[in-house]
Amino acid sequence: MDFQTKLEQLFQQNNERIKEVDSLDDLNQIRVQLLGKKGPITSVLRGMKDLAADERPKVGAFANKIRDELSAAIETRKAQLEQAVIDAKLASETIDVTLPGDPVVAGTPHIIIQIMDDLESFFMGMGYQVLSGPEVEEDHYNFEMMNIPKDHPARDMQETFYINNELLMRSQTSPMQARTMEKHDFSKGPLKMISPGVVYRRDDDDATHSHQFHQMEGLVIDKHITMADLKGTLLAMCQHVFGADRTIRLRPSYFPFTEPSVEVDVSCFRCGGKGCPVCKYTGWIEVLGAGMVHPNVLRAAKIDADVYGGFAFGLGPDRFAMLKYGIDDIRSFYTDDLRFLTQFSQEG
Ligand SMILES: [Zn+2]
Repeated sequence: MDFQTKLEQLFQQNNERIKEVDSLDDLNQIRVQLLGKKGPITSVLRGMKDLAADERPKVGAFANKIRDELSAAIETRKAQLEQAVIDAKLASETIDVTLPGDPVVAGTPHIIIQIMDDLESFFMGMGYQVLSGPEVEEDHYNFEMMNIPKDHPARDMQETFYINNELLMRSQTSPMQARTMEKHDFSKGPLKMISPGVVYRRDDDDATHSHQFHQMEGLVIDKHITMADLKGTLLAMCQHVFGADRTIRLRPSYFPFTEPSVEVDVSCFRCGGKGCPVCKYTGWIEVLGAGMVHPNVLRAAKIDADVYGGFAFGLGPDRFAMLKYGIDDIRSFYTDDLRFLTQFSQEG
């Protein structure tokens, strides 16, 4: 058999094997066997020394051609097998983009914060400033500037936590009123402010009281302010919170920092005034305290009580939330139970 026939046979046999091999390892073995130093092509080339001198280049060129073609066949098959590996991997790792994603749980402002935000924007719409002050407060601002001197019995209504004789956890947000009155420049216009925030009391731990709760106080001081201004403001506020059909009534009351003082009742938003468990069958629900600023409070802030006057009110966002949503235990607001809190999600 001459060299050429031998090489052609070699090509045909191995070309088929290369096309049929189905693993990269087997293909590599074929490559080593076929093209290595001990392989058949090398041995054919070695046998060329027996050929006539003019035959050698011809056979040599043909042998090289066969080797190059087998080499190319191996590379082609290698590329196919590598692609198959990638395809198999992609198929096994397929991502189904139509599957529903993991839901993103959005938080929601606490219900008390929602009530306060709503009230703040209501009062800002009427030109009030929103001011917050320190929770650790001086006795001077918390009590004395509010017409409650050290021996005054009204202090019993607001027992709080003392840091020392002069520093305490504020029992009301009124000290911010005192701080603002001291600084206000009436030549620039009336004083209209609300002061929302947390206050502290040594209260009995029952379902409607907490040692910590929220308060929002309002204060308006100018010339010619009357109780009609107070009533109109609070009526608008109650209608904003509890519904446009609400009416209010004022009952005489007592607070050391206002004179006269009133309790403000709103007509029951549940029964419309006919009588139901929410209003204890009276048709009215007590929602806040208010009054005309006591002249002593004005004088303490060095405001001329013969020229200026005003009204003040204090409401409890906790109580508003309890009334509005029928919550019977104030402690629910502070126990961090998500089942309770997420009911008030603004997402609905
Ligand atoms: Zn009612």
